[in-house]
Amino acid sequence: MENFQRITLVHYHELALKGHNRKAFERKLMHNVDSLLHDRDYVERVMMISGRILVIYKDDACEDRVSFDVDLLCKVPGVARVSCGFSCQRDIQVMNRAAERALREAGNFDTWKVVAKRSHTDFPIDSMEMNQLVGEYLCGRFPDKKVRMKGADVEVHVEVVQGRCYVYARSVPGIGGLPVGTAGKVVCLLSSGIDSPVAMWRMARRGATCLAVHFSGRPQTVDTSEYLADDICHVLEEFGGVARMFVVPFGDYQRQIAAMVPPQLRILIYRRLMMRVATRIARREGAKALVTGESLGQVASQTLDNLACTQAATSMQILRPLIGCDKLEIIADAQKLGTFEISSTPAADCCTLFMPRSPETHGKIAEIEEAEAALPLDQWVKELCRSAEEHVYRCPSSYCKMPDGSYGFAVDARNARERLDAQEGLDGCGGLEPQGSLDGILREI
Ligand code: ATP
Ligand code: MG
Repeated sequence: MENFQRITLVHYHELALKGHNRKAFERKLMHNVDSLLHDRDYVERVMMISGRILVIYKDDACEDRVSFDVDLLCKVPGVARVSCGFSCQRDIQVMNRAAERALREAGNFDTWKVVAKRSHTDFPIDSMEMNQLVGEYLCGRFPDKKVRMKGADVEVHVEVVQGRCYVYARSVPGIGGLPVGTAGKVVCLLSSGIDSPVAMWRMARRGATCLAVHFSGRPQTVDTSEYLADDICHVLEEFGGVARMFVVPFGDYQRQIAAMVPPQLRILIYRRLMMRVATRIARREGAKALVTGESLGQVASQTLDNLACTQAATSMQILRPLIGCDKLEIIADAQKLGTFEISSTPAADCCTLFMPRSPETHGKIAEIEEAEAALPLDQWVKELCRSAEEHVYRCPSSYCKMPDGSYGFAVDARNARERLDAQEGLDGCGGLEPQGSLDGILREI
């Protein structure tokens, strides 16, 4: 069979709505796609062509590898559709044969049609004529299949752009949204449960760079939940959905809370301490919001009153992308994302530690603050932040292109301790107010 150069075309749509920002958004998506594919030795080049990203493969790239990349690209935030096919010379005979090959690789179909487009008028055959010529050829090669102009199973696209022709028939929907790195940074409270990975995914899909914080029951429990949270991050890492995770050993602090506050208030006080720690980490990292997987009424800590008590522990906005979702919808998303099985593995984490028999469902802030007065919260928050262990993942937002074309980390994981020390030096701010003087540090990612 004739050997054509394999390509994939990455289409986006929502970006087109961004007016003046369009260029910046396109550049970001291009960077994200390029950095995800850069270590593939079978990829020749990633470039922009007329409102799409074009991935050109080397001659030895096989169909399976390209299919694997198509599946990956479909998960990348900002990608509306991924098409795969071939690049060929601007010669109608060659274009016909490339179109036949593309249609043969398009999977099962009964009906088809040609969609031809000429972006450069220096090619002598116009779009109408290209439709007819390629259509006629394909009719001869696929006598059992029918042409259908409306609602065809497969569309064979033949596009003349500048000096080349691009032909594709297989086209797969992507997850849409906005490219990671276009909407600022957030800190997601990531348990090893079903909901919070989905919440983080939804934020990544809206263009946020996500940092995770996981509170483990260690040393009061084993560290299983940490491994599960790390596995979850590896799933999101595949398409740039998480940049780093901070694991905070929380068990001893829960034990002390359990001994010092009325049992029904324990959960709310654990949560509020989590929020304070996450806020301090967020300030340090330049994040502008916290994210949780809470959904209204799902458990006792997620009534409107209790959500207000959790919010009152921080001056930072808490985003809850799943607040109006039904558990079944969240499970369906977790299955689609690929985290459901990991999240279904039983693990003791801080959520299962020192739970009261009947938790408060309508917390009152004054009552909680009174119970908290006995706790050395500022001291605990500092200690917990200091004990956080940092995991680093491949995220396009933390990558930058080096002069030799390779990618490297924009932020070195070893800087974490320095960032922390800088924050400790500014403790007059209590860690809860924006720290302008940390700007240099905050710009690292
Ligand atoms: P999930 O909601 O992720 O399935 P869960 O059901 O075990 O976990 P909930 O009691 O519903 O936990 O907690 C509500 C939210 O609080 C979680 O979605 C998550 O954002 C945050 N959270 C709970 N436990 C932890 C933890 N151990 N580490 C980090 N965040 C947590
Ligand atoms: Mg939950």
